[in-house]
Amino acid sequence: MSWETVIGLEIHVQLATRSKMFCGCSSAFGDQPNTNVCPTCLGLPGALPVANLEAVRLATRAALALDLTIHRTSVFARKNYFYPDLPKGYQISQFDMPLATAGRLRIASPDRDDITVEITRLHLEEDAGKSLHDRIPEKTAVDFNRAGVPLVEIVTEPDLRSPAEARAFLVALKQILQYLEISDCNMEEGHLRVDANLSIRPANGSTLGVKQEVKNMNSFAAAERALEQLRDRQIDLVEAKQAIELTTFSAASGALRAIRKKEESHDYRYFPEPDLPPLTLADDWIADERHALPELPEAKQIRFQHEYGIRPYDADVLSATRQIADYFEAVVAAGAPPVETGKWVMGSVLHETKEDDHPVQVDPSRLAALIAMVARGDLSTLAAKRVYRALAATNDGPKAVAERLGVLQVRNEDQITAWVEAVLQARDSEVARFRDGETKLLGFFMGQVMQQSGGKADPDKVRAILSDKLQPDS
Ligand code: ADP
Ligand code: ZN
Ligand code: MG
Repeated sequence: MSWETVIGLEIHVQLATRSKMFCGCSSAFGDQPNTNVCPTCLGLPGALPVANLEAVRLATRAALALDLTIHRTSVFARKNYFYPDLPKGYQISQFDMPLATAGRLRIASPDRDDITVEITRLHLEEDAGKSLHDRIPEKTAVDFNRAGVPLVEIVTEPDLRSPAEARAFLVALKQILQYLEISDCNMEEGHLRVDANLSIRPANGSTLGVKQEVKNMNSFAAAERALEQLRDRQIDLVEAKQAIELTTFSAASGALRAIRKKEESHDYRYFPEPDLPPLTLADDWIADERHALPELPEAKQIRFQHEYGIRPYDADVLSATRQIADYFEAVVAAGAPPVETGKWVMGSVLHETKEDDHPVQVDPSRLAALIAMVARGDLSTLAAKRVYRALAATNDGPKAVAERLGVLQVRNEDQITAWVEAVLQARDSEVARFRDGETKLLGFFMGQVMQQSGGKADPDKVRAILSDKLQPDS
């Protein structure tokens, strides 16, 4: 039997605010444990929460970018449960009246054509603290610095049809959130957390199967792997005529481990947060936020194709991050031809930055000047790559660096003629063979002259002068 996989995702994203969601404590990561705490985020009696407008703004931007409807009134609610890292005994979240509902994100699926994934909702909430199991031997410690840090939760409809497609969605979502500069989305620091829900059903089925959930994946690759394991496990069960039970798994160790069964599932007893008024947003304010959205990856890709004649795949690479896209455009603005600039950015520049967030060392005007030197024939492409690497370590311009490296291309005809003659004199027998019709030896002579020049001779000039000197009557 052939099975269809159905996946829906719940993604928590930490918003890049300076302070927490409902108090003034710093939301910095990595400070000494329990130094960024106050009566409000510790849930001490009498402390009152106040919503952080900056967090509301960032959440609104995310919702607008994902095409959700922003609700002018949304309501904070208490989600009640007991856990050691939850000092108040409840988490302030949003429940039946979330900030935004009904959006969508179009992505390129690895298995199908472009697909549109419906976004069910996006709401604001606060994070819990963090249990530390490796701090004190045999004991668990709790760090409340993270308690109260602002999060958005983004929930998708069960629209994804494979683990690879789920990963592609996550990559596209992260790219947008980074473009918006609302979160660094650093998964190692827990700034982006994914809970994935998966079920299977007969191919082309119309009803949904029983879903199981998997969490604690520390990369998108790990999420894809965990979903593959969950899918295979469900298929094995169903084919063995066993029931699939509502179960939550942890993928923290790489293998799936059941951490919660249906009977233990939570009843959170949600109710509206009595200490906070409903969150109301003015239409003008929402409109201003919409206006302030940056150009998003898809729009940028299309513009790069139309405005600069960049091919679709290259436009995709060049708009992978805002940093790279802005850099590319700055080099073009400095006068370099776009397609050539694209090649440089996708080659040497991305190679130098290695990972996306390593800063580019060669400022746009120097790369533009380097590209111009190649176009004028002052540098071979190979030499230009060497110059580029050297530019990263200095503030000098490409001309000075090329001179210092001694790689400026030589186009002086007397000089090239001298090199050619030196080679031909030392190679009489090859010259004779060439003149007897073995014309493929031209490549050999080319190589010899280039070597003679230390790689600096202009190859076009070398070829012309060689051809001339190899004529039988010369
Ligand atoms: P719960 O009540 O358990 O929170 P929801 O209906 O709110 O479940 O859905 C939570 C997530 O699970 C959503 O991302 C949704 O798309 C996904 N989901 C729901 N049902 C299924 C299913 N049968 N198979 C796969 N994913 C599902
Ligand atoms: Zn606080
Ligand atoms: Mg739910």
